[in-house]
Amino acid sequence: MEIVAQIRNRLADVPDPELGISVVELGMIDEVSVDDAGDVVVRVALTTAGCPLRAQLTRDVREAARGVAGVRSVRVTFGEMDAAARRTALERARRAAQERQAVTTVAPSVPVLAIASGKGGVGKSTVAANLAVALARLGHVVGVLDADVWGFSLARLLGVEGPVEAVAGRMRPVRRPVGPGELRVLAMGLLAQEERALAWRGLVVQKAVAQFLEDADWSGIDYLVVDTPPGTGDVPMTLARLLPRLGVVLVTTPSRAATGVAARTADFARGHHLRLLGVVENMAPATSASGEEFAPFGRDGGRELAESLGVELLASIPLDHALAQAGDEGRPLALEGDGGAFGALARRLRDDVAPPAGQAGCSARLLDALARAVAGDGAPGAFPGELRGQSS
Ligand code: ADP
Repeated sequence: MEIVAQIRNRLADVPDPELGISVVELGMIDEVSVDDAGDVVVRVALTTAGCPLRAQLTRDVREAARGVAGVRSVRVTFGEMDAAARRTALERARRAAQERQAVTTVAPSVPVLAIASGKGGVGKSTVAANLAVALARLGHVVGVLDADVWGFSLARLLGVEGPVEAVAGRMRPVRRPVGPGELRVLAMGLLAQEERALAWRGLVVQKAVAQFLEDADWSGIDYLVVDTPPGTGDVPMTLARLLPRLGVVLVTTPSRAATGVAARTADFARGHHLRLLGVVENMAPATSASGEEFAPFGRDGGRELAESLGVELLASIPLDHALAQAGDEGRPLALEGDGGAFGALARRLRDDVAPPAGQAGCSARLLDALARAVAGDGAPGAFPGELRGQSS
């Protein structure tokens, strides 16, 4: 197959960061050209110019095109769709929204941060809990879902207690104000029959996770942080099927044993068209009060993994006894000071890697208005003109 066709093939797997639908399907790939030296130019047409998610789109498109043999460099340029192309794109987005709206109560534009690891014990739940707190401290309403149904430690780490109430026939995640924001937590540990969950397998687990998304009230959240079971299983697939803006944050220690299995999880994620947002290295070297360095898990493994995967190292969190102790006490360390490494991670996600819908401001808000209208509870006035098929 010629290079351009191969690149187009790979771009078919790149979702628009907001709509979660293939950029090819949305008609966003205007032109792909390659010269004799293998230097590629991909022209992307945005639904709205001035979209702050350009950086991510550039990364994703570049990464996809780079994987094709014979490609030396990839340049991504941007233009804006004309009215007709935009109508077609939004019509496709609308159809996808209709299909999805029926199943979950998570608005399609809500960024979902799936915290994943290759194996247990690397601090995945600790990262999920502290990241959720740090995002809430930025003023966001953060949904927290413990999909690690066997490990379920999230509620305890956050110091949140049940019971989960049902309101109007839906489970209501347990609310906890954090600074200017709020956590809304749903976790196996908050439900009555948690012992039973330990015996669950395969399909039942998938169903439980699907129910957490379908039968709980997630309206009004800005982010959803999901603690996923370690390894490559069906749960991430269930999540990805139900949540268009799912992105994977890969947690690993610097040790080769951990980065090796984390790389397999990354391969699995990519193989299933899940978006990899970056790597968080946990249990990185720490320095004692006397200035001595302590590195039981080695060093730099997170950075090396991120480089080999072509994604960013989002944070490196040192070994810190206080972090473990705070978790045991149900008072996440990210509540202290400026949130430390977790505060920085939350700001990085908000500002660059996974901005909330309101901030993203291109197609996501249109899509939300549309999803509400489809669900029948949106004010008709909020329905954007283009979506009704008028030319602009
Ligand atoms: P996982 O979800 O990957 O199984 P946990 O978040 O439960 O891992 O963490 C495993 C253990 O390691 C917990 O006791 C936790 O408090 C501790 N821990 C996690 N991160 C750190 C860290 N950076 N420094 C010290 N202890 C940590």
